[in-house]
Amino acid sequence: MESKAFFTKQLLEWSKEVDRPMPWKGERNPYLIWLSEIILQQTRVEQGLAYFLRFKTTFPTVQDLAKASQDEVFKLWEGLGYYSRARNLHATAKRIVDDFDGVFPTAYKDILSLKGVGPYTAAAIASFAYDLPYAVVDGNVYRVLTRFFGIETPIDSTLGKKDISALAQELLDKKQAAKYNQAIMDFGATQCVPKSPNCKVCPLKNRCVALKDNLVNILPIKSKKLKKRDRFFNYLVIEQDEYTFIEKRTAKDIWQDLYQFPMIESDQIIEREILVESEAWKQIFNEQIPTITSKSTIYKQTLSHQKINAIFWKIILDSKTDLNVENWIKISDKDILSYAFPKIIDMYLKDRVLVLF
Ligand code: SF4
Repeated sequence: MESKAFFTKQLLEWSKEVDRPMPWKGERNPYLIWLSEIILQQTRVEQGLAYFLRFKTTFPTVQDLAKASQDEVFKLWEGLGYYSRARNLHATAKRIVDDFDGVFPTAYKDILSLKGVGPYTAAAIASFAYDLPYAVVDGNVYRVLTRFFGIETPIDSTLGKKDISALAQELLDKKQAAKYNQAIMDFGATQCVPKSPNCKVCPLKNRCVALKDNLVNILPIKSKKLKKRDRFFNYLVIEQDEYTFIEKRTAKDIWQDLYQFPMIESDQIIEREILVESEAWKQIFNEQIPTITSKSTIYKQTLSHQKINAIFWKIILDSKTDLNVENWIKISDKDILSYAFPKIIDMYLKDRVLVLF
């Protein structure tokens, strides 16, 4: 038996023995499959599970999700990160209601046309819901295939992506697409894991090129390593009586449509003297001289392309001062948790460890 046929057969055999229960496994409802796939993108299963169940309970149908406000969706999403996924989820639910009469599309090309749905998610929905013959290709699949077939083309190159996608499609058992796709996903997640896979117990070990040529820790190969950009956010936690000011992030940037304390971005960590001399500070406070009572330690959050460093400056304003800044919202302390914030602000709100200077 040639290697390709061996691969598919062994994988399907292996999957019969594997017990990896997930609430969406065996699910045929395309809405719930889509929901789980969007939640699980860039998220660990253990973390995504609670969110999936919460979304499923709050919005049992695509119509329920379409009817919700963006703030409701964001609040439920809070803590998962990559908020563009939540925005796309909501926009897509509305589009399904408007353009597809509330019925999830059944053709692969229509599924792929949905916002936030790439080839991987489209293949997962098409195969799991309708058994259509489309192979899933994601990081797990790249890893399994490059190792088993000993492919050394970088997986982030155009050629690597094209070749591996074509190979994945060739390997797919077209008569049982859902089963095969589930099997390869489970195999990548539990057997051919990124670090130190237990090759001794692998059902593919006799024909695995990476194992034979000692390339298990080398494959898959990536050509570029991403350099993350450092950003420095100075959040102004302005308190006036029992109120605090927040604003919505509206710019096309990370965390669009989430809330935050008014923020001044700098190009490095700055001291108080530099902050109060900045143009942004003068624009906000004009001639007023508010009291900075404390600053926090540095909070850090790493995103896919950026590293955020944040300092929270606590500022007390007297009752009479009127800042009159457009778009700021004055909220009472007890309401603060009803707004959706980026994780870095949630971290601050949770511990509020302020270091006096
Ligand atoms: S033998 Fe090791 S590297 Fe090869 S497919 Fe199995 S787990 Fe992956």
